[in-house]
Amino acid sequence: MSESVNFQSACSQSVISSSRNNNGVLCHCKREAPIVRAWTRENPGRRFYGCRGFGVGNGHESCNFFRWYDVEKPHGWQNLALQEAREIMQEQKEEIANLRAKVRSLTHECSNEFSRELEDEMKEKGEECEALKREVLILSERSSMLRNALVASYVGFGVVVGGIMVMSRW
Ligand SMILES: [Zn+2]
Repeated sequence: MSESVNFQSACSQSVISSSRNNNGVLCHCKREAPIVRAWTRENPGRRFYGCRGFGVGNGHESCNFFRWYDVEKPHGWQNLALQEAREIMQEQKEEIANLRAKVRSLTHECSNEFSRELEDEMKEKGEECEALKREVLILSERSSMLRNALVASYVGFGVVVGGIMVMSRW
């Protein structure tokens, strides 16, 4: 397997974390190449220098710089242990993805229910508001009628007083 094929699969298969290199290793685009851990079947846990621009991501140019950081290939019982760890990691990754999907759908459901409730409540409040408006209208009509009646009675009172005064002068 060629280095570049190795790199392709290393990058497509679970790059979990990367760290800064302190060796001044630069990639093709003259950026400090971060150290990434590969989790391929061939090289579980083996670290390499990569570039953030691989596959044109993160706003970088495409750059397929590759160099192993861990010179030795994984071997022996450590290799087996790492392969096992890799399988566990993949299972957990799937589980996490499933859980995330579940959380997303639940959140969606919840927000739907919530907005339905909110809509009902708003409709209710709207009806209440309409009823209040009607009541205010009736009350203001009534108060203007009262005012008219009051004015009428003042006028009537004046007429009566005036009449009395006129009569008393006689
Ligand atoms: Zn680069």
